[in-house]
Amino acid sequence: MALALEQVGVAFGGFRALTDVSLSVNAGDVVGLIGPNGAGKTTCINVLTGFQRPSSGRVLLDGRDVSALPAHRLRRAGVARTFQAGRLFGGLDVLDNLACTGVGLGLRRAESERQASDLLGWMGIAPLESRPAAGLPYTDERRVAIARALMGDPAYLLLDEPAAGMSEAEANDLAALIRRIAHDRGIGCLLIEHNVGLVLSVCSDVVVLDGGRVIEHGDRNVILGSRAVREAYLGA
Ligand code: ADP
Repeated sequence: MALALEQVGVAFGGFRALTDVSLSVNAGDVVGLIGPNGAGKTTCINVLTGFQRPSSGRVLLDGRDVSALPAHRLRRAGVARTFQAGRLFGGLDVLDNLACTGVGLGLRRAESERQASDLLGWMGIAPLESRPAAGLPYTDERRVAIARALMGDPAYLLLDEPAAGMSEAEANDLAALIRRIAHDRGIGCLLIEHNVGLVLSVCSDVVVLDGGRVIEHGDRNVILGSRAVREAYLGA
């Protein structure tokens, strides 16, 4: 079972944001996606989640070609994401934010509320249930955004810079949460992060993009030993 890009290209007008990118996330694994600004990381997530159609190549969900599916259909098919900015409904409380998402995914209201409550408990943030989303501290907001992405029991979760703006201790808590999401819930995760230490501590497998191409792919040792990665990051 895997979510994969197969030789994907994305062009914006004459500009090629991605060229021949292949990567794969297996159920229960955490794959890291790193690279300098503008490398094409968010575009990869946009393609995997149906927010951006590939100009060439295919998106495969458990072997099925889903390249043409729009975002809401892919979400219902089990591909969830978080965004760099929280995107919660500020006027609603935390439970309602999750419950509305569940209803949007086809759950009945009562079932959705039960699932929302279970999820917040599982994440250790049950006391946030009745807090308005608008007033949440930043790290709580990020956690709620992850909880919301877990509504409907997705098979895959794509996280776009979830540790941005977090302290080291908060980032460590986040790392523990991502491990639990993958190991305890069997969800395949793709993690975009600038915090390379975090990526190397959580991910079994790391893909490095530069200029829209995969320049390296492997485990922690491969990435740390890679000259191509050093050059992309340090220009050395
Ligand atoms: P990263 O997430 O690695 O910083 P992105 O995937 O956001 O990189 O962007 C890759 C490149 O594609 C950048 O040069 C960016 O300016 C360009 N790009 C992204 N989205 C669009 C778009 N909708 N139209 C034109 N160019 C875009």
